[in-house]
Amino acid sequence: MVTIKSKQEIVKMREACRVAYLAQKAVEEAIKPGISTWELDKIAEREMRKNGAIPAEKGYPSGEKGIPPFPGAICASVNDEVIHGIPSKKVILKEGDIISVDLVAYKDGFHGDCARTYTVGKIDKETQRLLDVTKEAFFVGIQYAKKGNRLGDICHSIGEYVEKNGFSVVKEFQGHGIGRQMHEDPGIPNYGKAGRGITLEPGMTLAIEPMVIYGSDGILQLDDGWTIITEDGSMAAHYENTILITENEPEILTLP
Ligand code: MG
Repeated sequence: MVTIKSKQEIVKMREACRVAYLAQKAVEEAIKPGISTWELDKIAEREMRKNGAIPAEKGYPSGEKGIPPFPGAICASVNDEVIHGIPSKKVILKEGDIISVDLVAYKDGFHGDCARTYTVGKIDKETQRLLDVTKEAFFVGIQYAKKGNRLGDICHSIGEYVEKNGFSVVKEFQGHGIGRQMHEDPGIPNYGKAGRGITLEPGMTLAIEPMVIYGSDGILQLDDGWTIITEDGSMAAHYENTILITENEPEILTLP
């Protein structure tokens, strides 16, 4: 069921999303060669708790038998890791790496979800292009995030933009509605047909999140039951914001 948020609920969504943004900012400022993804995790959790929120990813159930709940406050996915990387003292960032940080702040009954891919020092030009296209794909997609449009209009435009630039979108994972639950309907794939899917209405809050691979679209899951890597070993990027459908332009809740 797709939930339509009331005015009061939207106020709470804005606040959860503001805290998620602040946590990303704190992580971004800390990123440098030599820091571990475990330290970044602690920084994000501290920032969320300081602002009255809890990290919703921590303890999130995997749904797979024998796989423990997610242990981190953030997902920290380095280089060929696409999503759901587990923060670790053993993963030390070095010059030329990229790291995708996906985090969800839960405050006063509502969730704010955003992801960024950051660069560590200087990275090569092609990897930078991957990051740029991933972020641009989000902004291309939300041009269609308007009352009366169909969900497929967003999905299609994201997939088309990524492929036009020679990269691949991940097919097995997708964006989602968000609110009282971290994952609500609808599912929002990063590909699809324009003119299909639900009709967008004011009060819908959606997490739109292009996940883009430099090479082909195959992915694998590591034995930890969480980390998703690219099958061909090429780099992957992720960019996500929680948005609100309004009477006019969409509001990006996880940006200031
Ligand atoms: Mg997310």
